[in-house]
Amino acid sequence: MPMTPENATHYRVVCVLCRKDAYVCPERQGADINMPLRAVRAFQRGGWHQDVDHGAKEHKRGLAADYGGGKWFCPACASKRP
Ligand SMILES: [Zn+2]
Repeated sequence: MPMTPENATHYRVVCVLCRKDAYVCPERQGADINMPLRAVRAFQRGGWHQDVDHGAKEHKRGLAADYGGGKWFCPACASKRP
């Protein structure tokens, strides 16, 4: 499940293995186009792992909608993956 905007300032991801979820609230800094990217970085700093779905990016490369796409794994599940 890709990262989803929860409201104007929050983003949510759900682990594809155990369904644990998490939220981040990236600070708004100027252009909103960067908020999804900051959200992705915030999840990754917290130990979440993103499996990017490259096949789905053909038609929207470079758009903010790309950020957070693909599958997410929580820190516990990410550490158990081969
Ligand atoms: Zn998990």
